[in-house]
This record gives sequence, structure tokens and C-alpha cells, in this order.
Amino acid sequence: MTTQDNVITVDAEWKKPFPNIDNDTREFWEGLSRHELLLWRCKCCRTWYWPKAFCNKCDNYGAFGSNMGWENSSGKGKIFSCNVHHMAFHPGFRDDIPYAYAVVQTEEGPLISAMLIDKISDPIGSVGSPVEVVFEDHPKDGFTLPRFRLVGR
Ligand SMILES: [Zn+2]
Repeated sequence: MTTQDNVITVDAEWKKPFPNIDNDTREFWEGLSRHELLLWRCKCCRTWYWPKAFCNKCDNYGAFGSNMGWENSSGKGKIFSCNVHHMAFHPGFRDDIPYAYAVVQTEEGPLISAMLIDKISDPIGSVGSPVEVVFEDHPKDGFTLPRFRLVGR
């Protein structure tokens, strides 16, 4: 494993469940591989979302998200909720426990869940802490995962 700025490259074989990359999410995953955290955004009123069928802030309803699109975000946010897993619910996580899994409220607003790369001893006390995205590249398996790390401590 090598770490460079906000990119971690993992050479080891992936032993956890694979991400579910389909035609609806392919662009999001391609963004991650370019080290961009894409969020869904209305092309009319510019409101950010996690993907949904239409914008409910403006009257420009495009069918099937036609007025919506993926855009690069700041990659910054704060912890909305956090828990620490002390049990591996899949054998692939055995070497990671205890690990912190958080819901992050992005600066743009949408919530996204991901593992934190930091060890967290007080998950409740971590709520509100600023975080930023870290891109975990898995070149052998051809995908990049979003992780988050604490900043400003
Ligand atoms: Zn809109």
C-alpha cells in the first residue's frame, strides 16, 4: 500500500464484496477513478443531490433525470453519524476491525456513507468533525473507493 496526498493505492487482492457498478452508477465510479467525488446536480437551479429522478426545488422536471447530471464536488464535509465496527460481518473485514463507518454530509449537502481511514475511539463525539475524501485505488481489480479522513486536528 502506498499513500500519496489524498490517494491510497492498494496492491493486495480485493477480498471484500465488490462494489455494485451498473449503468446508473458507472459515471460516479469513473469519477472516483479520476480522483473526483461526483455528486448529482440539477442543471437548472444547481441544487446538489445524491442521485434521484428529478429536482424538487425547481419546476423544470426532466424525465428520468434528463435535467440532472454528475458534477465534481469539493470532496469535503463533516461527519453526520458514525459507528465503530468491532465485529467483521464479512471475512474480508477481519483485518480492519475495529473500523469506523460514517455518514458524511458533504459541503454541497448530500449525504454519502463510507469507511473512515482514521481509527475512531469516540464515534458520537466525532459527529460534526470535518473530513475530506481519500481515493482508495485498487488497480488490480479496476475500481476506486471513496474513503474519508479527519482534517484539522
Ligand atoms: Zn432544480
